[in-house]
Amino acid sequence: MNLVQSLSRHRPAARGIAGLSEAVVDLSAVRHNIRAFRSVIPQSVMAVVKADAFGHGAAPVARAAVEAGASWLGVARADEALQLRAAGLTVPILTWLYDAAELMLLGDVDVDVSVSTIAELQRVVSNPAVRHVHLKLDTGLHRSGSAPDQWIELTRAAAHYEALGAVTVRGIWSHLSHGDRPDAVQSRHQLQLLRTGLVLANRAGLQPTVVHLANSAGAITLDAPDCDLVRIGAGLYGIDETGLGLRPAMRLMSKLAQVRRIRAGEGVSYGHDFVADRDTTVALVPLGYADGIPRVAGAQASVLCRGVRMPVIGRIAMDQFVVDAGDLPVEPGEPVTIFGDGSRGEPTAADWAAWAGTIPHEIYCGIGSRVPRRYEGAAR
Ligand SMILES: *Cc1c(COP(=O)(O)O)cnc(C)c1O
Repeated sequence: MNLVQSLSRHRPAARGIAGLSEAVVDLSAVRHNIRAFRSVIPQSVMAVVKADAFGHGAAPVARAAVEAGASWLGVARADEALQLRAAGLTVPILTWLYDAAELMLLGDVDVDVSVSTIAELQRVVSNPAVRHVHLKLDTGLHRSGSAPDQWIELTRAAAHYEALGAVTVRGIWSHLSHGDRPDAVQSRHQLQLLRTGLVLANRAGLQPTVVHLANSAGAITLDAPDCDLVRIGAGLYGIDETGLGLRPAMRLMSKLAQVRRIRAGEGVSYGHDFVADRDTTVALVPLGYADGIPRVAGAQASVLCRGVRMPVIGRIAMDQFVVDAGDLPVEPGEPVTIFGDGSRGEPTAADWAAWAGTIPHEIYCGIGSRVPRRYEGAAR
């Protein structure tokens, strides 16, 4: 094979660099995680697939979640909801961050929108395409939602528009500030406020079909029999905050791109933060901070190759980092696991989060668009 032939044979895929790295998403883990929640809580499940399903890929994850019994989908932004409809998902979808200019498109494909103020309500009803709204009450997170002292006015206005046939209030909702803490007084207080909000909404003449408050952790830690729905994000991806036995769905894989021997006293990567104290073999992993490998994790991180943990050495660069293979006889092309579910001794996304001083959510969301996603475990 000549050089041109071999270059074109290794032409990069549409996304991703030369197929060296990939994020493998196990859809059977997503289904397992949804079922794990459904087996212990009475509420229906809204699968939260915002931010491209925390970097896992919104449409495939949404389909798997629906297969496992999720009856709603939730997304932050309007375009995310439109993408799900375009991908053929037909279950109800709620979006909570949208622009007035997006309302027509959302209404056309019957996406439910969150409403926190009278001004928002008026923008929604002036748009005949939008059919379903969820009124949001701020019960303590103080991020969005109706201020409690404006709730009566908001619910009365909504009931007025509902009577005119302009819109239907399908849900009443709020969001927890301390959902991951068992028995948080804040959560119980928020639930109490939402209950009162529901009573006032009923008094205004509204009969919402769903009341929802809890996120993944809150679904387990907060006993809220008067809620019909929980919004599961983190848990869907296997971020296990409550010991449910969830399975991480994403495995980040690569292959060693180059291998070289260096001598004691030689430095590696920018600034030579690492200097070898013995002769050793160093290997290049073709992923960097542009792919979501946190630069600050470099001092503590390691990856799994040939069944052993190899420490990251020197600074993590934009596209690549180096690991110390010691005296192991590694070759270019050797598979490397950056993170996975930990069952083969590899680090988890939670380990990377600890090394980077963040949460696994940010690790997953940060995996860049250059890394192709591959799906396994699709339902037959
Ligand atoms: C992200 C989000 C969720 C999901 O929370 P997790 O803790 O990831 O389960 C639920 N509700 C709202 C409003 C969100 O923004």
